[in-house]
Amino acid sequence: MDSQKAYQNAINLLRKHKIRITPQRQIVLKYLINHHNHPSINTIYKDLKSQWSNLSMATIYNILDTFDKLGITISLPGKDNRLRFDYFGKPHFHAICKHCGKIIDITDYNYPKLNKKLASLAEAQAGFKMDESKIELFGLCPECQKKLNK
Ligand code: ZN
Ligand code: MN
Repeated sequence: MDSQKAYQNAINLLRKHKIRITPQRQIVLKYLINHHNHPSINTIYKDLKSQWSNLSMATIYNILDTFDKLGITISLPGKDNRLRFDYFGKPHFHAICKHCGKIIDITDYNYPKLNKKLASLAEAQAGFKMDESKIELFGLCPECQKKLNK
């Protein structure tokens, strides 16, 4: 999906939920669609403050919270307990290095199937209704395996 289409889809979803398309929401949305490095709020703030003078970290946090609730973005555990954010237009897994905190995208064309399977297991075993899911694998990235001789 090209980034223009991704942007339009997200805007349509915001409209559908009667969420105002403010310039701030547009800027953060565009930023996340075009950055695939799972940035923290701090990084987003540093990158955007030059084009938006009255920006605060709290504003960014609130915007991302809204996006998260609609499934436009997801939050992931990052190093030093800082959340990291990701545009989630194409659902994927994450492999997270426990040593350096690197977050790696793992794609699988079967993701929707697996997601459905997990949801139906939760429903069958616990009567649980899933409305959101994240799949995260924890371990060591190749660089850290080398560094730590694992
Ligand atoms: Zn690592
Ligand atoms: Mn990702």
